[in-house]
This record gives sequence, C-alpha cells and structure tokens, in this order.
Amino acid sequence: MLQTTRNVAQLNRNTPVYFNKETMETLDVIAVGAHPDDCEIGCGGTLAELAKSGLRVGIIDLTDGEPTPGSPSPDVRIAEAHTAAKTLGVAKRVILDLPNRRLFDSFEARVALAKQFRIFRPRLVIGLGEKTPMASPDHWQAAQITDAAVFYSRLTKWSEHFDGLAVHKIERQIYYSLMQESGVTGNGPNQFVHDVSECHQQKMAAIMCYKTQFPPDKAYVFEKVTAMDSIAGIAAGFQFGEVFTSTKSVGSRDLFATLQLDRQG
Ligand SMILES: [Zn+2]
Repeated sequence: MLQTTRNVAQLNRNTPVYFNKETMETLDVIAVGAHPDDCEIGCGGTLAELAKSGLRVGIIDLTDGEPTPGSPSPDVRIAEAHTAAKTLGVAKRVILDLPNRRLFDSFEARVALAKQFRIFRPRLVIGLGEKTPMASPDHWQAAQITDAAVFYSRLTKWSEHFDGLAVHKIERQIYYSLMQESGVTGNGPNQFVHDVSECHQQKMAAIMCYKTQFPPDKAYVFEKVTAMDSIAGIAAGFQFGEVFTSTKSVGSRDLFATLQLDRQG
C-alpha cells in the first residue's frame, strides 16, 4: 500500500528504519534517482510495466530536489513525487534527506542508500549511470553512490554501519539514461531498449504530476521525452522504448524472442 505523502515524508526523514523480519516489506525492483522526477523521466514506463506485471517496484530519491526554482516548498515537491509514484503503480517511494545541488559520493551517502537496499532487499536495481553535462552534477554523483551502495549492501562483518540490518546481495544492476539530447542510440555496449509502448501514457501522466517543475512554459519537456522514447522504440521495432545499459552482458536463451521474431513467420 502506498502510504500518505506526509507519513512517508515524516517516516523517512525522522525515523530510523530498523530491520524487522516480521514486518519486512520487500521489493523486487528499486529504481534510484538523484531527484524526484529522474526515475519517471528515465525509466517511468518500465517501472509502470513491471508494477503492472505484478512485481513490487520501489523508487528511492537521494534528495528531495529542493530548493528548485518553481516549487514553493519541499512539501509540495514531495507531494508531487508521491502522486507520481501512485500514477506509476509503484508500491513504495523513499525520499532520503541528502542535499540537493550538493550531492556528493561520500561514505555517508553510500551507507544511507545501502541501508535502504538491506531493508527492501531488491533483486534488481535500476540507477543512473552517466554524466549529465549542462544539467545537474548530482546525477553523476548519484550514479557513483548507487554503484557503491549495491556493493555495500552485501558486505559482511560491517554491521556497525548498518544498524544491524542483514546483508543483501542484489542480483542485477542496470542503468537508465537522462541524456535526452544524445544518449538514445541503443548502440552502446550492453545497451538494450525496453518496450514501454503499453505504459507510455502512464509514464507521461506521472511526469506531469510534477506541476511545479513543468509549468506551461516547460511543456516542451513532455514533447522531448515523448520524442526520445519514440526514437528509442522505433529503433528496436516498438512504438516507445526506454534505453538501459546492463552492468553485465545481456544473455539470450530464446533468440527469436530476443530478436522480436515471430516463430510462426
Ligand atoms: Zn535530476
């Protein structure tokens, strides 16, 4: 169940969360962003589709994205984020209190995220994986924090840093892309395009929940995201697609299925 905005915000900001086997709420997939709206823009269609298929999907934002030019207060941005999560069908959204605009890969930031991985025990982590020149440098810091936290999550003999939370080994990690100008090629090593045609409207509706970030004079962002998803999708034979990079080679067992070939001809 999605908790109310204020409860989640208060819980995440003020209450240390300790591992409790009886009340443990696990997630299959966690997407990590530097700011609320990163995950929606980079992989919102995929998250919606995974949630629709019955998997438990969560989003962790390392910061609340505040201050930001268009928002009257952090409460408003947090409320927008939880409405967006609900729109995607995401089961859980956690907004950490690391500092926006001053996000740095640090031991404390790595541990803060690794604790969330130990609590929610995802099988798959989807994170940022590239620099975003001429946009926020927080994204690249988030990429490094996420890489480290995936590793820290499984380290034994270090429980003093993790409130006694049990170690957790994450099975797979992939990167999503925010590079709308040049990143949607689908041609890099270990890149693949995921078909989000069915959930693209849901993705756009989630992005539009950020009313303070995308007022009418920024409506071009919606067109840009739609265009990029369309280019990525068409390149792979879909209406809309999102580009991911796997940290390991992507294997194939059913070549026809992988190549979108119909066995019946
Ligand atoms: Zn961002």
